[in-house]
Amino acid sequence: MLDLCLLGTGGMMPLPYRWLTSLMLRYNGSSLLIDCGEGTQIAIREKGWSFRPIDIICITHFHGDHISGLPGILLAMSNSDRTEPLTMIGPKGLERVVKALRVIAPELPFEIKFIELTEPQQQIRLRGYVIDAFKVNHRVTCYGYSISIERAGMFEVDKAKQNDVPMRFWSRLQKGETIESDGRVYFPELVLGPARKGLKVTYTTDTRPTDSIVRNAKDSDLFICEGMYGEKGDVNNAVKYKHMTFEEAGRLAKQAGVKELWLTHYSPALNRPEQYIEDVRQIFQNSYPGKDKKSLELNFEES
Ligand SMILES: [Zn+2]
Ligand SMILES: [Zn+2]
Repeated sequence: MLDLCLLGTGGMMPLPYRWLTSLMLRYNGSSLLIDCGEGTQIAIREKGWSFRPIDIICITHFHGDHISGLPGILLAMSNSDRTEPLTMIGPKGLERVVKALRVIAPELPFEIKFIELTEPQQQIRLRGYVIDAFKVNHRVTCYGYSISIERAGMFEVDKAKQNDVPMRFWSRLQKGETIESDGRVYFPELVLGPARKGLKVTYTTDTRPTDSIVRNAKDSDLFICEGMYGEKGDVNNAVKYKHMTFEEAGRLAKQAGVKELWLTHYSPALNRPEQYIEDVRQIFQNSYPGKDKKSLELNFEES
């Protein structure tokens, strides 16, 4: 089971009752956080989720509303007695930016490992998460993230027998282990059927619509996309400031064939996002205005 919480839905600045856009996912005892603007640690506390299992923090870009809350998050993690290393993923320059922010949080009981993205498309596998980072189009270098949980095929007795796999290795191979014995290497594929459908969540914010979003969001169970502006007439602002309107997000959801769209990263001037959702539903039916703490639990399909 993968569960997730859209911690906040604001863009630019946190407001009373609207924290900045940030997403937290939990899978198999490991948490992954995407973005942490000012106040994200309070949103995590409001949700009641803990800081200690945060193993990965992905940053979309270096604008304050997406990273200025980092020192507070790191201090909250150290107050929760975390000692295991933390991995941070983000655009080139990440280590330098985090180092600067850490002037006010210099001593931490855990190490930070950095993965700086240098290619337009990069895949990272960590803690059971498959993280696909893809470049989008904002005023500064910015990445979107697809987070997938893969699901191996079913165990097939006949296949195991046909491939002469000794029975004592079956259960370990089924769990994904590769085993070497008596000069032969046994791969899980020798006992497993074709891979089954996994889970996929795509998160992208602070960007104009791009092909990379459509490609990466393809068939996502959930697509969380920025909608800085609700009114159609705001498209000029969206182009100028490199953001999106609700309708543009709806078109991306449709093109990518996702199951469900949540809008987020609302302009502080946008008071009632739900007011514009019917227009988006004309384009993509399964659209919802993201709300602070909107949560979802995703499970593998019954086979
Ligand atoms: Zn932003
Ligand atoms: Zn931005």
